[in-house]
Amino acid sequence: STSTPAFRRVLLKLSGESFCRPGEGGISVDEVSRIARQVSRVAARGVQLAIVVGGGNILRGAQLSRGSDVIKEATAHYMGMTATVINGLALQDALESVGCETRLMTTIRMDEIAEPFIRRRALSHLERGRIVVLATGTGSPFVTTDTAAALRGKELGVEVLLKATRVDGVYSADPEKNPHAMLYQQLTYDQVLRDELKVMDMTAIGMCFESALPILVFNFKREGNIERAVAGEPIGTWVAA
Ligand code: UDP
Repeated sequence: STSTPAFRRVLLKLSGESFCRPGEGGISVDEVSRIARQVSRVAARGVQLAIVVGGGNILRGAQLSRGSDVIKEATAHYMGMTATVINGLALQDALESVGCETRLMTTIRMDEIAEPFIRRRALSHLERGRIVVLATGTGSPFVTTDTAAALRGKELGVEVLLKATRVDGVYSADPEKNPHAMLYQQLTYDQVLRDELKVMDMTAIGMCFESALPILVFNFKREGNIERAVAGEPIGTWVAA
């Protein structure tokens, strides 16, 4: 597609599952390269990109601490946050290998491998055309990187939160289990909260609602979809007021 970007600055939320093959864990270099290539085409159009990376391909705090007190729940969440750094490092190199200047920023300091997240510095990187990869979520336990995406999206003044998933958008039921599941083209925050639709976690939805930040849930597995999303083409599910 050659249409002009509809958005000037976007926040892309990439879950940990974007970094591995379906049903697997860890990191697949092929998957990371594929995403980097898609993202590079968006950056080449002059769209400013901040990317919040998840860590679920490596570790989710809530899962690790369930049913046992050996590893405290808070610790498990900090472990999950450090997992996002592994993905962030992989994505940074993959992006640079396709010619995108990239900065990795964390809310938990890791001076040897990443810059501390400082809002004004992140904004300056974006204005200079650098892709800003944000790892360690909010820096606080008990929430997820979806919440970090909503927060960072708000403070970096993005126009839309692009939530990349493996399905085409938000469905009335799980499309992998129910053949009659219907794909929504548009939803309001109210509907998402009321019907507990699987868009992002509820804290994140509430935050987007309060700041009127629209969310586009779309399938990043379809080649070219990240570009279509920033071009404002009608793909996926659009969540707004
Ligand atoms: N996490 C956290 N605080 C944050 C972000 C993440 O404690 O602000 C922890 C949490 O345990 C989470 C894990 O890091 O399960 C990995 O992030 P997430 O589950 O959001 O990854 P995704 O589902 O996007 O792969």
